[in-house]
Amino acid sequence: MEQHILDCVIIGSGPAGFTAAIYAARADLKPELYTGLEPGGQLTTTTEVDNFPGYPNGITGPELMADLQKQAERFDTKIHYEMITKVEFSKESGGIHKLWAGNKEIFAKSVIISTGATAKYLGLEDEKKYSGGGVSACATCDGFFYRGKDVAVVGGGDTAAEEATYLSKLCRKVTMLVRKGEFRASKAMIHRVLNTPNIEVKFFHELQAIEGENNLVERVVVINNQTNEISKIDVHGIFIAIGHQPNTALFAGQLNLDENGYIITENGTSRTNLPGVFAAGDVQDHVYRQAITAAGSGCMAAMDAEKYLN
Ligand code: NDP
Repeated sequence: MEQHILDCVIIGSGPAGFTAAIYAARADLKPELYTGLEPGGQLTTTTEVDNFPGYPNGITGPELMADLQKQAERFDTKIHYEMITKVEFSKESGGIHKLWAGNKEIFAKSVIISTGATAKYLGLEDEKKYSGGGVSACATCDGFFYRGKDVAVVGGGDTAAEEATYLSKLCRKVTMLVRKGEFRASKAMIHRVLNTPNIEVKFFHELQAIEGENNLVERVVVINNQTNEISKIDVHGIFIAIGHQPNTALFAGQLNLDENGYIITENGTSRTNLPGVFAAGDVQDHVYRQAITAAGSGCMAAMDAEKYLN
């Protein structure tokens, strides 16, 4: 049977993937986009998005992603609600890249990777045990369940500060567990945290264990890493906000990744170390991580792919 070779396959369905699709489709590359397990990506787990240009009154994350998808489909992007499970990239310029979605084989002249990043966890057994019973990595998704209750947030970066501030509006009290004696968050976020009366910051504190009944969180066990003193805090929810892990396991050994696993792109472009393979969005950006910067880099990737195919 003759192989059907696509011009452009896009992996991932966040702002980067859909923007790449809009541009690639308009350049007549007939892109096919594989959504992965979380169609719409991380934005589908947020509520209001007030900083995406073009929406003067804000928009919800899921609505924004639905709009981006509609726009990509308007220009005949084919969307597959499937996960790419394996890739075999060609090292030759003009070579054909091979991808798999389960048993299905896909052949493409160019590939745009926009698989994003996923929230990190501490690696405690208890996180798994109480997942869905009080442990979360997304305050905007799950904060609602802890209205009027006490919760804890682990982390001292901007994400943790943002989660704590968000939760402070819903919850009775928020305890922030910061492992060092200082925040990593920006000055503005630190200021906001320190000026919110129902947020208590515990520096030098680490989460050791989670306790509860019937897989529902009732308290956390924490250790002061300076004095080794162990204490317990009664909470119903615990939010882990210690950063993100890029979704690049699929590409390890084929693409150049940095020490944190992010795809390395050539300065000012979306080009990876392999010809015809491009990367856009959070999978290659640990600095800006915004919907609009992801969308911008998706546009770059489609233009780079078009140029490569020409
Ligand atoms: P960061 O890597 O900036 O911060 C991670 C935080 O978690 C640090 O305080 C770190 O502590 C702590 N941490 C990491 N691992 C552990 C662990 N095992 N146990 C306990 N604590 C741990 O991640 P963020 O997600 O906060 O931010 C990532 C990027 O996104 C940053 O550039 C940030 O500015 C940006 N961002 C911007 C936002 C905005 O502008 N609105 C919102 C959210 C993020 P330590 O300092 O000790 O390493």
